[in-house]
Amino acid sequence: SSIEVSDGSVRAVKLKNSETIECDSVVIATGGASYPGTGSTGDGYRIVQELGHTVTPLKPSLVPLEAAEKWVRDLQGLTLKNVSVTMYDRKKKKIYTDFGEMLFTHYGVSGPVILSASRHIMQYDYRDVFLSIDLKPALSPETLDARIQRDFEKYSRKQFKNSLDDLLPKKMIPVIVELSQIPADKPVNQITKAERRSLVSLFKGLTLEICGSRPISEAIVIAGGVSTDEIDPATMGSKLIKGLFFAAEIIDVDGYTGGFNLTIAFSTGYVAGLHC
Ligand SMILES: Cc1cc2nc3c(=O)[nH]c(=O)nc-3n(C[C@H](O)[C@H](O)[C@H](O)COP(=O)(O)OP(=O)(O)OC[C@H]3O[C@@H](n4cnc5c(N)ncnc54)[C@H](O)[C@@H]3O)c2cc1C
Repeated sequence: SSIEVSDGSVRAVKLKNSETIECDSVVIATGGASYPGTGSTGDGYRIVQELGHTVTPLKPSLVPLEAAEKWVRDLQGLTLKNVSVTMYDRKKKKIYTDFGEMLFTHYGVSGPVILSASRHIMQYDYRDVFLSIDLKPALSPETLDARIQRDFEKYSRKQFKNSLDDLLPKKMIPVIVELSQIPADKPVNQITKAERRSLVSLFKGLTLEICGSRPISEAIVIAGGVSTDEIDPATMGSKLIKGLFFAAEIIDVDGYTGGFNLTIAFSTGYVAGLHC
């Protein structure tokens, strides 16, 4: 489909089947290019570019992140609730932190706190980012150490790999055991204080190296779109072509999780509808 314009004004919409619908105003609300199965295949960007509008660079936003560590695959499908996540740059500077729910996938991490984080850290190259997960954010290292000590007393006759059932989801135990570098079959009563301390550090800072994001097609929204410089915010009308209006995700505006993107869609659609 395309839009026919002459003398700087919209004249008609031309459909794929060559049918032409004459009109003097059109609202472009074709969405972004994420989840193309829902119909938003990115058509709108081509249509508006053909009309001379600028489309700012498109980036996936609210998008799952890929991790370099192979062990994430072993945790695929595991949801962690009430964890604290912190993102660091290469210089170990904290760039984002949040608390809530996340999910491991075969490629890395997803879930609410990760999707939000992906937007907050978008100005960074994802490949320069480290993710640290605090599995026990409610406990200070000292309190957690005391808690682990109590569990180790309870399971003193067991092997290390069988001593973490009260502290971790089942799926996570082999991964943590491996990362702790404490031999899996070591009797719990032989675990040293230093080993226990390093286990505490692991619980408080399970670290992943982020190596990218999933593609635009898997993003909840797209950052980028029709330049807002070319749209009158009072009407959502094009500053270049009379009778051309924009609504929702096609515009270079995107929000965090929490209903902001639907709010953008509804409010811009409402304004465009009033003026078209
Ligand atoms: C899985 C998922 C979960 C989400 N959850 C939330 C949430 O909880 N809260 C929130 O605020 N936002 C959420 N969003 C984002 C929100 O849904 C979108 O930002 C919003 O729907 C964008 O509205 P839109 O009208 O621009 O595009 P869309 O809703 O994508 O609609 C675009 C429509 O245009 C049609 N179209 C495309 N090209 C053409 C063409 N050439 N001719 C005719 N029709 C065309 C498409 O078929 C589609 O029906 C979610 C998105 C996804 C993918």
